[in-house]
Amino acid sequence: GRYRSGPIRKHNWSMSTTSVKAYEYIVLGGGNAAGYAARQLVEKHAIAAHKLAVISAESVAPYERPALSKGYLTANPPARLPGFHTCVAAGGAPQTPDWYAKHGVDLLLSTEIVKADLASKRLTAKDGSQYAYGKLLLATGADALHLNELGMAGAELDGIYYLREIAEAEKLYEAMKANVNKHAVVVGGGYIGLECTAALVANGVRVTMVFPEPHVMARLFTPQIAAHYERIYAEKGVSFIKGTVVDSFADEHGSGRVRFIRLKSGAVLEADMVVVGIGAKPRTALFDKALAMEARGIKVDEHLRTSNPDVFGAGDVITFPLKMYGNRMTRVEHVGHARQSAMHAVDVMVGASTEPYDYLPFFYSKVFNLSWKFWGDTPPNAKTIVAGEMNPKLVAVWIDDSGHIVGTFIESGTEQEEAKLKELARTRPPADMERLEQAAAAKDPDG
Ligand code: FAD
Ligand code: NAD
Repeated sequence: GRYRSGPIRKHNWSMSTTSVKAYEYIVLGGGNAAGYAARQLVEKHAIAAHKLAVISAESVAPYERPALSKGYLTANPPARLPGFHTCVAAGGAPQTPDWYAKHGVDLLLSTEIVKADLASKRLTAKDGSQYAYGKLLLATGADALHLNELGMAGAELDGIYYLREIAEAEKLYEAMKANVNKHAVVVGGGYIGLECTAALVANGVRVTMVFPEPHVMARLFTPQIAAHYERIYAEKGVSFIKGTVVDSFADEHGSGRVRFIRLKSGAVLEADMVVVGIGAKPRTALFDKALAMEARGIKVDEHLRTSNPDVFGAGDVITFPLKMYGNRMTRVEHVGHARQSAMHAVDVMVGASTEPYDYLPFFYSKVFNLSWKFWGDTPPNAKTIVAGEMNPKLVAVWIDDSGHIVGTFIESGTEQEEAKLKELARTRPPADMERLEQAAAAKDPDG
């Protein structure tokens, strides 16, 4: 074949030697998308040994990242590797390093790629080693946005935690255990803010949440849905400071450890630890010049192909057309998309599919003993109807200008209820307004 496996010694005129390992396929990244891509190549496409390399900056094999803010912090006993390597969420055994070895997949861990030359189809790692590919799947994901990048004073102090990778989860876990009955400030009212707050509270840490919006999860929740969750959090002792952001952090007596959190509003909070979840930034830096970009992501077409025909993309890092919504270009930072786009990109990459990627947006979260799911779209002018606020089940639908159901939400639904709501978001039937209004008025969970 054209792509030989194993090291190739190449002599150049100066007689120095460069070792280049060549692969038919390289998956760049070791997160959710990478794990599902490897599985698809092995299990569906029976890829031959040493034709595939998965290259990851992380020191452990791909794992189910969502576990870091849930089972890793709260389960008893807490979830630990190898228990949540990919692809346990898709059923089956965790893909440990043995799995990769057994299937002849070269899993190159702790290997950060620092240079990508798409013309010569070569990647260069930090230690200078080089890898050549026939086809490349980009799955570099996203990183947490850090407050020191925004130039905030005191943001480098100890005791300020972020959560993206497993080493950070371990540090957060240790801090949480060391601060039982003490006080944490959580910065950000999105997914990390809500999930980490729930974990802290479950472990006996008191929490104050600070965020700029008028309510939690402002991107998705309506005020009514947010109020429902804020009530549950408040009952567990969480307090909220809304409509402001952190101005700076400071320590006490030069300890080097965060103690004071000054807000833009002027207030100063005291805390024993701080958790920050202020959003993610896609890791595109290697390709900013070489590939077309859109909306902060690597632009791909409906086949998840980038502007270079041998390079594909999946997961958090891509901006892709949403077929369901007139090919509106979007970036999605959720695991369902990471998994599905990875498997789809692999099918296209090996020549097994010419179908477009047809993703139905799907978001979920789990906090305390609650678990909500959302399918579909939330157009800016959508009318929302929330029904069944009891039980504690909560159901909501989003209805667009033309009177069709476009988004659906349920808390702690049964399998049948969830299947029904997913179907509604996919098929977008005209809304039966009378019935929905009645259900909302009656707050009937079965409405
Ligand atoms: P990632 O999983 O971020 O993986 C990117 C990988 O690429 C990493 O291994 C990284 O080290 C590697 N990499 C990047 N650049 C390089 C380089 N130059 N060289 C080598 N390797 C590189 N989504 C949900 O839908 N539900 C949830 O409940 C949920 N919970 C979450 C909880 C937490 C704590 C976090 C952080 C995220 C959560 N998400 C959740 C989001 C979900 O995890 C992401 O959408 C998903 O992980 C994206 O997968 P990915 O493979 O695109 O990127
Ligand atoms: P997010 O985008 O969900 O929320 C960011 C929040 O940060 C906003 O809601 C806002 O309240 C706040 N914010 C923004 N700028 C701020 C500032 N300067 N000061 C204070 N607050 C500020 O992002 P996240 O919660 O940090 O999550 C990071 C990534 O992890 C995202 O990609 C997210 O989708 C993913 N994630 C997903 C889940 C899930 O799907 N259940 C769970 C955890 C993490």
